[in-house]
Amino acid sequence: PDLFAPARVNSRGFDLTDPVTLARIEAARAPYAGATWAAGPLVAGEIAGGEVWTLANPARGDDRLGTLTLAAPADIETALTSARPWSAPVADRAAALNRAADLYEAEFGQIFALLAREAGKTLPDAIGELREAVDFLRYYADQAQGLTTPARGTFACISPWNFPLAIFTGQIAAALAAGNGVIAKPAEATGLIAHLAVTLLHQAGVPRDALQLLPGRGADVGAALSSDPRIAGVCFTGSTETAQAINRTMAAHLDPAAPLIAETGGLNAMVVDSTALPEQAVRDIIASAFQSAGQRCSALRILYVQEDVAAPLIEMLTGAMAELRLGDPWAISTDIGPVIDQRAKAGIAAHIETARAEGRVLAELAAPSQGTFVPPTILQLNGGIAALEREIFGPVLHIATYRAEDLEQVIADVNARGFGLTFGMHSRIDDRVQTVAAAIRVGNTYINRNQIGAVVGSQPFGGEGLSGTGPKAGGPAYLPRFTQAPAGKAHG
Ligand code: GLU
Repeated sequence: PDLFAPARVNSRGFDLTDPVTLARIEAARAPYAGATWAAGPLVAGEIAGGEVWTLANPARGDDRLGTLTLAAPADIETALTSARPWSAPVADRAAALNRAADLYEAEFGQIFALLAREAGKTLPDAIGELREAVDFLRYYADQAQGLTTPARGTFACISPWNFPLAIFTGQIAAALAAGNGVIAKPAEATGLIAHLAVTLLHQAGVPRDALQLLPGRGADVGAALSSDPRIAGVCFTGSTETAQAINRTMAAHLDPAAPLIAETGGLNAMVVDSTALPEQAVRDIIASAFQSAGQRCSALRILYVQEDVAAPLIEMLTGAMAELRLGDPWAISTDIGPVIDQRAKAGIAAHIETARAEGRVLAELAAPSQGTFVPPTILQLNGGIAALEREIFGPVLHIATYRAEDLEQVIADVNARGFGLTFGMHSRIDDRVQTVAAAIRVGNTYINRNQIGAVVGSQPFGGEGLSGTGPKAGGPAYLPRFTQAPAGKAHG
């Protein structure tokens, strides 16, 4: 082997500061600006097809995207009956997944268009998402070659709308790379992107019985899959409540050894002490709380600012927030797109209104009048993290202040709340950073930077406690969970 050949490298992405690149992107997505799609189940057999939904752009209700046919009960049965593990040799599986990565990259125009129009993603977010999807495909293809344990069977992969390409693809790629079959249930809101992804994976050589797609409601398709003994394991990303419900269903119906690999919500905190660089902290807080309209599991929800620096920091933060541009995510100038749908908007708005009634709104922007926009908002949080009942999945930042001598208590409170996904800290005192990082119980800790955007292969992503079941996506512990446990070693 060539010792100097690079190992797997991550996708290079696109440089948006280069006008030539920008023009290429515009040209590639232009044909999809007004396109419509017709998507539905993809099963290895005849498709029955159920209810048909017409889909619209969350930023503009007049922008119609076409139709999504949901899976009928007969389609669920066909998928379960025809599902097969992917028995091809690992080198062939890896080659097909690498080919799929190339096809994804080649299809960037359609992918960016769909990510904007179906999922409300800004162009920088769409670029990040395509890169992550491609990285997952190549990373798991690479990792699979080192596996020593056999596949389990057929996995149900149940994925969220907030990363409709990256997380959707990551779950599937992991299960397939390890030699399993997959029945994928995409989020209701993002069936078109899922349909395109599965089409590209089939084109790359993944057999149709090893990868099937069942668009539908969680209560129908998700429940049917996680209660069927033909399923060997479930991979889920979404809310903590849904993960708990899936866990109960699996316990009642599936083989007790069937794993649930879950990544769920968070109540992610950041601590900014009086030694932090304010400009840097402000930039990273804005990105962590508001990028992707706050619709990331990793997003910052609760900022703890040391009381001595709270007033000037909040003032700077308010000024920086006022610079953010909300609007149609298709436009290159847009920083913040819509939230996913009316229901999400109403839930977040109700939370803001409760705070307003209590006089706790510190700053807010105005939102476009049409579309499902929620303006970035900063709320005062009395009582710290314990006072937050649930994860607010949108661009809402809560701020609490703390006294220097109470830092240990802050960390204890965050741990006691039970979630454990991401945590951020801005401080220039090394000892303090080390102590806090050792005490905080989360999957991903970020020091003096933003706390979103984990990178496949270098920052595996996943949580503990109420935030997930452990193995991190994009890291070496992930694939083995999709295989049978190695035989126990005898000691003696
Ligand atoms: N991996 C993403 C990040 O680091 C978050 C994934 C999620 O929201 O589920 O920002």
